[in-house]
Amino acid sequence: MSNPYQVVVAGAGPGGTLLARDLARAGVKVAVYEAGFEAESGHNWSDAVEKSALAAAGFALPAIGPDGYEGPLVKKDERDDNLFEPHVMNRLQIWAPDLSGKTRTDVDFRYITTDRIVLNRMLRQQAVAAGAHIFYNHRADGLVGITDAPLGGIRISGLRVTDRHHEQTSEVPAAVTVDATGYRALLRTGLTAATTINRPFTKGDLAAVYRTVRQLDVSKAADDNLTDHYRYGAYRGYFWTHRHHADVIDVGGGVKEAPDRVNPRDIVNDMIRQRPSITATELRGGGGTVLVGRSPYTLAASGFLSVGDAAGQVIPTTGCGVGGAMVGAMLAARTIIEALEHGTTGIDGLWAYNRLWFGGPGRGNHFAALAALKEILQDLSHTELAFLMRRDILSGDMLTPSINGIFEAPDLKTTLKTLMRGMSRPGLLLQLNRATTMGKKIFRHYCLYPAVWDEKTFAAWVEKADALFRRIVPAD
Ligand SMILES: Cc1cc2nc3c(=O)[nH]c(=O)nc-3n(C[C@H](O)[C@H](O)[C@H](O)COP(=O)(O)OP(=O)(O)OC[C@H]3O[C@@H](n4cnc5c(N)ncnc54)[C@H](O)[C@@H]3O)c2cc1C
Repeated sequence: MSNPYQVVVAGAGPGGTLLARDLARAGVKVAVYEAGFEAESGHNWSDAVEKSALAAAGFALPAIGPDGYEGPLVKKDERDDNLFEPHVMNRLQIWAPDLSGKTRTDVDFRYITTDRIVLNRMLRQQAVAAGAHIFYNHRADGLVGITDAPLGGIRISGLRVTDRHHEQTSEVPAAVTVDATGYRALLRTGLTAATTINRPFTKGDLAAVYRTVRQLDVSKAADDNLTDHYRYGAYRGYFWTHRHHADVIDVGGGVKEAPDRVNPRDIVNDMIRQRPSITATELRGGGGTVLVGRSPYTLAASGFLSVGDAAGQVIPTTGCGVGGAMVGAMLAARTIIEALEHGTTGIDGLWAYNRLWFGGPGRGNHFAALAALKEILQDLSHTELAFLMRRDILSGDMLTPSINGIFEAPDLKTTLKTLMRGMSRPGLLLQLNRATTMGKKIFRHYCLYPAVWDEKTFAAWVEKADALFRRIVPAD
């Protein structure tokens, strides 16, 4: 069989296409197989995407003018072909879930609202311009080379792909195969449990999200509360309004998946009913499943990597995964390019990706700690969360880093302040303390992520990580 590609990628979302772009720019022969059609790619709305990830990927961020962002990439109109919405979110308010209070308005919100159809298209175009091949309507069905061996013993040698139009299945050999299929992680989860890499995301790792972008009746807007805000912790999730343009608003929210969860659409409809200036005219919108879980303990095996949602590279406290997918893709590209140069695409050569993600610039250590924090605090009731916010215990200072995907343990001064202000609810303080203590322990453990592949060292690291996470969610 001929071998035209060194790397094959399954999935043409932001993770898969940015990876293909960076590999192709370095002269690597790469193909992306995407199950859907090109026209279906992206969301029909704008998402909050981390500015640092966009900048690192080479997107010029717009300057801030008196009326918001301005520049050639900024939208004049909700549905034009530009990348960024003009509104600046740094006057974001954080509201208590029961609406009884709010915190700071000067939140350092490190995101820019980005059109997902335009972003996906730009990344695809950049990948193709660099020389990557993208095959649409081609479904990745599984990895070639799966055996029952543990992590150190398997060697993935390519991808099984079905051309959906002709219903033809073939095997595409490659030195490295990448799973970028989104939260279903179709390829990674096909590996055996003996590898520890296969951990599927369960319902508890997912959230149901709904958002609608509506035309505003500006003549009524003065009477409505249309401030950009996050109602954090509401219904085991959060709800928001983002005013994209003077006459356009995005209303949305998401809640953790559970049999007894509310329908986020009902809550969003209530928010709209309470604000007469929000009209019935929907410009864009939709919904879906968002990953809010944590990564498996390794994202690499011999001849295999996972990237983006498939790798759990999502901020667990917000479900924002575009930035994580982009950072993951850039780190994966760096690792693969070096591995190909040295002819080491086995687990030894690809392990650097784990180190970069979990213990380095990838922020996997922060995301793991935030997953622990979220797991403990999401069970607090609206009244408990509102109490913590009203007393400024769960303050803007504490919430802002976690919204930005950064785990920050409170310093001594904050801890003392918390004790003073929360004295009347010792049980609640204990729970808060447990969350930050476990977050700290997990963060420290991930900072000690094994720098090189060694079966025994990794097994010992996994055992300790498992023990820490079991203290948060006991095994069934
Ligand atoms: C309603 C909603 C709102 C969101 N809001 C935000 C937000 O505001 N900010 C933010 O950062 N993130 C947000 N997200 C999350 C964000 O969309 C994801 O984290 C991000 O798209 C992950 O990128 P990815 O490349 O890993 O995966 P995806 O974008 O999911 O791309 C995976 C690709 O793989 C393809 N695929 C799947 N299976 C196969 C297969 N078998 N073979 C071949 N191809 C396959 C899919 O068709 C898809 O094109 C939101 C998600 C939803 C659903």
